[in-house]
Amino acid sequence: MSDIPSISDQAILGARGPKNRVDPNLPYAWLVEPEPTASGNVEDVATVFLTNRECPYRCLFCDLWKNTTDERVVAGAIPRQIDYALARLPPARHIKLYNSGNFFDRQAIPYEDYSDIAHRVARFHTVIVENHPALCGAGCLEFRDLLKAGAKRQIPEREERGMPYSSDVRGEQAPQLEIAMGLETVHPDVLPRLNKRMTLNDFTRAGEFLSQNDIAARAFVLLKPPFMVEDECVDWALRSVEFAFDCGVRICCVIPTRSGNGILDRLAAEGDFAPPRLASLEAMLERGIALARGRVLVDLWDIERLFQCPHCGLRRAERLRHMNLSQRILPPIDCDCA
Ligand code: SF4
Ligand SMILES: [Zn+2]
Repeated sequence: MSDIPSISDQAILGARGPKNRVDPNLPYAWLVEPEPTASGNVEDVATVFLTNRECPYRCLFCDLWKNTTDERVVAGAIPRQIDYALARLPPARHIKLYNSGNFFDRQAIPYEDYSDIAHRVARFHTVIVENHPALCGAGCLEFRDLLKAGAKRQIPEREERGMPYSSDVRGEQAPQLEIAMGLETVHPDVLPRLNKRMTLNDFTRAGEFLSQNDIAARAFVLLKPPFMVEDECVDWALRSVEFAFDCGVRICCVIPTRSGNGILDRLAAEGDFAPPRLASLEAMLERGIALARGRVLVDLWDIERLFQCPHCGLRRAERLRHMNLSQRILPPIDCDCA
């Protein structure tokens, strides 16, 4: 890998293609998928991909800007988006409100909507939002408290409507707020070059703050970010996962770094980036689960891009899916290509 300096915001913006067309009154996607819980069960998690203003950070690897608006959405739009998605999704016990940025960035999610949002999701067991470690502060505590208040409001409303309490309703108990933060990597040379404007101390402080305030944390870790060679990528991802658990994180999601945001495609052409091999993702999940420190998942979105053999790709992906859910290491897939 060449020894190039950090890449500027301008260069990152300049390499981008066009955004997708989005409607500020509609989420841009919604789905329900299973996830392992801390207690060892597998439960359904709804994810609502909220349409809102683009994140002001310019992380080198990020492609979330593609489904964002240029301007802040009007007050009321986010609760409407949540209503729209929930009306179309099957029941789930947990919900992710992912906004392609930072939930507690007030230019992203209007502050005046916090209460209406909390009320809409107070019946879930866990409410998971994304946030940059530098933005973990008073807003998180306010939203946590609004979830508690929202849970209390659910009881008379359900009684009025003659709705019995079912297993997907927590009753008086407020949802557990969980904040998902990007750690990306603990590699001392690579992290500063990702343009995330975060140090490991920032992440540690955010983890402590959340633990002290009864807010759960999850971390995103990149497998093979730019400027990293294949032979080292599993070790660094594993060290990053261990660091996240040391900071109080309960679940780590490891994401194979993907091109497609413009700047990573340029770095790929220059030899400073290549996606990880499927074998590295497999090794990462095996070693992450073997740590037995907390849940470790690998992100399987668009996994087909990592297939190298027409005979075993699907079976390998299926094995990873089962390992994600069971948190157990399954026998490797046999194939002549190995
Ligand atoms: S903070 Fe998150 S959403 Fe914002 S640019 Fe970085 S990775 Fe993307
Ligand atoms: Zn094969």
